[in-house]
Amino acid sequence: MSRRRVNQRPTSAAAPARPEACPCGLPARYEECCGRLHRGDAAAATAEQLMRSRFSAFAVRDAAYLLRSWHPDTRPAEIGFDPGMRWTRLEILGTTEGGPFHTTGTVEFRAHYTDTGTPGDLHENSRFTRHDGTWVYLDGEVS
Ligand SMILES: [Zn+2]
Repeated sequence: MSRRRVNQRPTSAAAPARPEACPCGLPARYEECCGRLHRGDAAAATAEQLMRSRFSAFAVRDAAYLLRSWHPDTRPAEIGFDPGMRWTRLEILGTTEGGPFHTTGTVEFRAHYTDTGTPGDLHENSRFTRHDGTWVYLDGEVS
């Protein structure tokens, strides 16, 4: 997702406990879904899969994964998580390219959150590209 929600004050609050169900919304356990990517046991085959894993990384506050799945040209120096933010649900609205044989792709999504208990959502069209063969997030347009 965009840096709009990223470059916020760092938190000293403990990261949320690893969830049972994967935050990305696929009917799978976190450990067997985005958790495999976060641990480095698997790589995203598609831009959409990378997008899902990045949403999950925001949900579980895995800054290291967010940084390494971010293109070096657009990657921030560090990622701070707003302690009041809880990413609750991801809706994929559309994709272009981003498949196993593509080198670029876009994913349009709506990411739902609660901010200190108040629900909201972020609508973004993200661009993804390959870096050293691996899908990475390039940038996004928030609307
Ligand atoms: Zn997942």
